[in-house]
Amino acid sequence: MDEIWDCIVVGGGAAGLGAGLVLGRARRKTLLVDAGGQSNLSAHGVGGLLGHDGRPPAELYALGRDELATYGVPVRSGEVSDITGEAGHFVVRLHGGDEERARRVLLATGMTYLPPAIPGLAELWGRSVFHCPFCHGWEARDQPLAVLADGDRATHLALLLRCWSDDIVLLTSGRGELSNDERARLCEAGIAIDERPVAALEALDGELSAVAFADGERLPRAGLLAATVMRQRDRLAERLGVTAAAPGPVAEDPVGVDPLCRNSIPGVFAAGDLTGEMPQVAAAIAAGSRAAAAVVQSLVAEDYGSPLPPGNVMTEQGRVR
Ligand SMILES: Cc1cc2nc3c(=O)[nH]c(=O)nc-3n(C[C@H](O)[C@H](O)[C@H](O)COP(=O)(O)OP(=O)(O)OC[C@H]3O[C@@H](n4cnc5c(N)ncnc54)[C@H](O)[C@@H]3O)c2cc1C
Repeated sequence: MDEIWDCIVVGGGAAGLGAGLVLGRARRKTLLVDAGGQSNLSAHGVGGLLGHDGRPPAELYALGRDELATYGVPVRSGEVSDITGEAGHFVVRLHGGDEERARRVLLATGMTYLPPAIPGLAELWGRSVFHCPFCHGWEARDQPLAVLADGDRATHLALLLRCWSDDIVLLTSGRGELSNDERARLCEAGIAIDERPVAALEALDGELSAVAFADGERLPRAGLLAATVMRQRDRLAERLGVTAAAPGPVAEDPVGVDPLCRNSIPGVFAAGDLTGEMPQVAAAIAAGSRAAAAVVQSLVAEDYGSPLPPGNVMTEQGRVR
């Protein structure tokens, strides 16, 4: 407990590991605490990540932890239950009672993904049922697909998925009205609309085989894009007093950050899904990396005086000058 870390990173997903790597390479005394259960673990592969495309998520996280070890950044398994204090003197409490102290904290705790609650969906989640066509569209290409969405996102997601297949059915499950204009645009793109309530998803050999409607009829489908919302996993950030960003159609309660990943609470940084950015591994790694550079910069500013001289310094807009 006497030891004080330069930074404690909470969360060991793409954002947290990306941050830990940059902090370690900057020779900052860094601890990463991770509860496990990164959001994409159910997927066969990470779609769209340069250098790791289509390879298992668990492999990515294991490689990341190995890389952090190279730079002396310990990854501790555990769950942070509370963070108190202020910049320079944060106290990070873990479930089980242990406490660690840090000058900065970086929240990279991800989000809980909430797809529609439909029987059969959970078993297929992250494979033939997915939240993001950029992540999983390639694997579902040229197959009969469906989009399960209502409201403003329905038409957008259906038209987007059209990039990957010309056999798309938009399922609104009896919720929300499509305007005449939306119907016309969907029709023009060759997308069918079915507004009957969806009762369940059926699987064959672990992959989606059909959508079952409440009236008993079935629609054979090989893949389904489900409009999903995201919510913070716990109230850790809220208890710390961080400022929230405006809720969006996907992220319900994102943490607010500026371009340097700082929150309005001095010394608190956040990155990844938690901040409501595009939910993709590449984006999370990039944000973690940027947050780590901002943490390092803030420590140097504190230790050696501010403002820093020009030269490889991130500006308030997140640009390098
Ligand atoms: C099913 C599925 C499939 C996906 N597939 C892809 C894909 O193919 N390609 C792609 O680019 N993106 C994909 N994504 C999105 C991608 O997984 C996320 O955008 C990315 O993982 C976000 O990284 P993160 O580090 O912010 O959060 P996460 O990866 O969720 O990691 C957060 C970590 O923080 C830990 N944590 C949370 N709270 C605490 C606490 N209090 N104490 C300690 N640790 C804590 C969690 O246990 C977790 O390990 C997918 C998402 C899902 C849900």
